[in-house]
Amino acid sequence: MSNFSKDNFISKYAFYQKVMYIMGIVTIALCGFFTKVYPTNTIISLCLVFVLFFVTDTILYAVNYMDSSMLFMLFRFIELSVFLGVQAMANKAPVIVVVATIFIILEAVEYVLYKAEYDTSMVNMRRYSILVPMIVNLFIVNSKCEEYVWLVYMAMHVLSLIIVVIITEWFVRRGESYEKEISKLKLEMSRVEDNNTKLIEYQERIKSTNDQINYQKIDLIRVNKELEQINLEIESQSEIMKYMASTFDIPKCINFIADAVIEVKKAKLCAVYIEKDVYMNQFGTCIVKTNYSSMQRRLNKEIDSIFERVSSGHVHTKVFKHDMLKGFKFIGDANINAVAILPFYDGKKIYGMMVVGSDEENFFDKSMSYYENCIVEFNVAMNSTKMYLAMEDMARKDGLTGIYNRIYFKKLFADAIKSTKLKKKSISAALFDIDKFKKVNDTYGHLAGDKVIQMVASLGKKYAEEHGGFACRYGGEEFVIVLPGYDKESALAIMEELHKEIKSTPVYFNDKKISVNVCLGLTTYPELCSDPELLVSRADKAMYYGKKHGRGRLVVDSELINDVE
Ligand code: GH3
Ligand code: MG
Ligand code: MG
Repeated sequence: MSNFSKDNFISKYAFYQKVMYIMGIVTIALCGFFTKVYPTNTIISLCLVFVLFFVTDTILYAVNYMDSSMLFMLFRFIELSVFLGVQAMANKAPVIVVVATIFIILEAVEYVLYKAEYDTSMVNMRRYSILVPMIVNLFIVNSKCEEYVWLVYMAMHVLSLIIVVIITEWFVRRGESYEKEISKLKLEMSRVEDNNTKLIEYQERIKSTNDQINYQKIDLIRVNKELEQINLEIESQSEIMKYMASTFDIPKCINFIADAVIEVKKAKLCAVYIEKDVYMNQFGTCIVKTNYSSMQRRLNKEIDSIFERVSSGHVHTKVFKHDMLKGFKFIGDANINAVAILPFYDGKKIYGMMVVGSDEENFFDKSMSYYENCIVEFNVAMNSTKMYLAMEDMARKDGLTGIYNRIYFKKLFADAIKSTKLKKKSISAALFDIDKFKKVNDTYGHLAGDKVIQMVASLGKKYAEEHGGFACRYGGEEFVIVLPGYDKESALAIMEELHKEIKSTPVYFNDKKISVNVCLGLTTYPELCSDPELLVSRADKAMYYGKKHGRGRLVVDSELINDVE
């Protein structure tokens, strides 16, 4: 009976009471029928009284009359009084007396317990208030019956009161112990609830800590990815550095950088442009890396005009987005939403640029250090390449005239012979020496002599290069010209031209006009000289023949020159 409560008790009790009403009606009716003690109309009236109570109780119960204390108390008090009256009247019908007594006890119990709220004083007060109708009852009975019947009545009343007291006491005590139990349980419950609230708080805290840990985890994953990318970029830059240090080949360096940008930065386009004459390159160098082949073609055409704009602007990196991209026709239908242009600056001028493109609009919002480091590394490579090439050039060329020296001539000549043999073509060589040069030195001084040597050398270079050949200073004032692919006739025509121009080009020194002449020897493989290795010595011999035979001559290789010592 853990769900005991007085309200519960009252509602159950009200139900039992109805059963008792019916039983009372039936008992009185049966009693009247079998004993015929009372006239029939008394029995009927009694039954009607019961029916009236039953109906009233049912109706009042249906409208929750138990909520209204006054109404309920009044109704029960009337009922109690009526039953006491019935009991007093029915002293000659013991069954009715017993039935009425049972009802008195039942009514009294309910009456006493009703909304007592375990308040003992309230219970006692109600108990005493029952006493009054009981005493009245006893007086009625006393005036009507003999003494022994009155004693029985009194005994019954005392018994009824004892039963009421015992039952109500039992319910009250039980209620109290339940109440204590309940309050204990409630206390326990509130403690459990407190603990629960604390647990929920802990749970919330744990959840928020977990959330924080998760956010930190996500942050860590992101930071880890960023670190991986940084690592990749550092590794790539170290590779670039190693590569740059290993070669003086600028186009290869550009290729390496552009490939790295595409691979490491996942860019959709990387183009590098170097203008002409930066590293002895005759033309601008342009390397474009992208998967969009049509864009590659378009950019190759547009790159000069882009560089023109970049070279006249500032040296900082510029990023283009949205409408600014309209200035780049090369993009066309390619999915490029951001372009960065990074100029190559050598401290004096912008000599090239890197164009990077991406499909992501915010691609360049992050750090640009990777590209900038690439450019720094490239600048270093470019400087060392320029230095190397300058040194190489110096080593190849003669200091006074700027044309190739004899050492480099050997290599050039060997390559030319190789290629001539492969192509099965002719090759001509001419050797020439300034006539009576000592006299120039003696007459005008060495500086004047130097100027003459420079003039002759530059004309020799001009004629050689104009015809796809090369010239070198073979000795003090001795020069060699090699014309690959030229037969005797065509080479002779060129040499005659050269000879004419040398003769007709005076050198002015300290307002003095110095005119010089040269003696030339010409030979051609395979027409005149069967062994290309002997070309220079045959040309020398022809030249020497000229010296011996009056100077200022152009001598073509023949049997004749063999006679000269
Ligand atoms: P030839 O007609 O027989 O050639 O007479 P040459 O006076 O020219 O005689 P040779 O070729 O033997 O003379 C070469 C001279 O050129 C000797 C040297 O003093 C001079 N010479 C060589 N190198 C230089 C140079 O770099 N500068 C100057 N000023 N003179 C040089
Ligand atoms: Mg000479
Ligand atoms: Mg000489």
